[in-house]
Amino acid sequence: MFSVRKSLWREHIFDLIRRTATDLPADVERAIRRAQLREKRGGNAWWVLGEILQNVKLARRHDAPLCQDTGTLSFYFIVPPGFDTNALVGATREAIAMATRAGYLRQNAIDPVSGVPYQTNVAPGSPVFSFRQGARKTVDARLIMKGGGSENVSAQYVLPDGELGADRDLEGVRRCILDAIWQAQGQGCAPGILGVCVGGDRASGYEHAKSQFLRKLNERSPNRTLARLEASVMWDANKLGVGPMGLGGRTTVFGVHIDALSRVPATYLVTVSYMCWALRRRGMLLGPEGGLKRWLY
Ligand code: SF4
Repeated sequence: MFSVRKSLWREHIFDLIRRTATDLPADVERAIRRAQLREKRGGNAWWVLGEILQNVKLARRHDAPLCQDTGTLSFYFIVPPGFDTNALVGATREAIAMATRAGYLRQNAIDPVSGVPYQTNVAPGSPVFSFRQGARKTVDARLIMKGGGSENVSAQYVLPDGELGADRDLEGVRRCILDAIWQAQGQGCAPGILGVCVGGDRASGYEHAKSQFLRKLNERSPNRTLARLEASVMWDANKLGVGPMGLGGRTTVFGVHIDALSRVPATYLVTVSYMCWALRRRGMLLGPEGGLKRWLY
């Protein structure tokens, strides 16, 4: 059994939230920079990407949220055997309340019945926790913040889909993903990043699709067939001409991450989780007593 000093965990998780909200990961920032170089200097896409980069710089410099929508908070923990997850949940909730009071998080969790925001962002369904048991004596803690605009344009398809001409095969999957990108244009703050789950059910499809954002942008699927599909969708998506913020341009998506879950014979789902350019993901590795070993990403 590992001992957890709750105050120490709370401090680290507060820092994880602060960093995720204010400091865009280097791989995402690099992708934006590269995209700007591909655009015509002085054109709409070039300006939009330049403004995004300026925003990223200012957020980091002033320790301020990258976007007014601080999104849904999804925590992914991998803990050692015997670890007290209740204490970690408690520390995380306290850290969220602190980060809200400190202005790193907007009051973003709303009671859908009364329409009233929760003061601290700690509420039913907020945050979202995912726990796994690992073999190591460390805790791997990761956070993704996903804004509502990008969540609104995420989509789930049931194959076959006659309108798209999509059968129950990988060509059908490709058509669904490209349709989701096309439907999202002008919304969801492109360039986007896609997390895709082939198979699963309604709930696990969305969960698994979203967890793909834990991958770095250059991390290809270990499954060669899916890796090829990722590359081909990325290529085709960037030929659509949707561009940054839907104003036209050469970069519509920065990354495509596809994974698969088993399905039942009667169901073939394709779930596309759409992430805006503000892919806020951070992580840290902690020792069993709560000491920070290193930052991830
Ligand atoms: S979609 Fe992303 S960048 Fe656009 S407002 Fe929402 S969180 Fe911000």
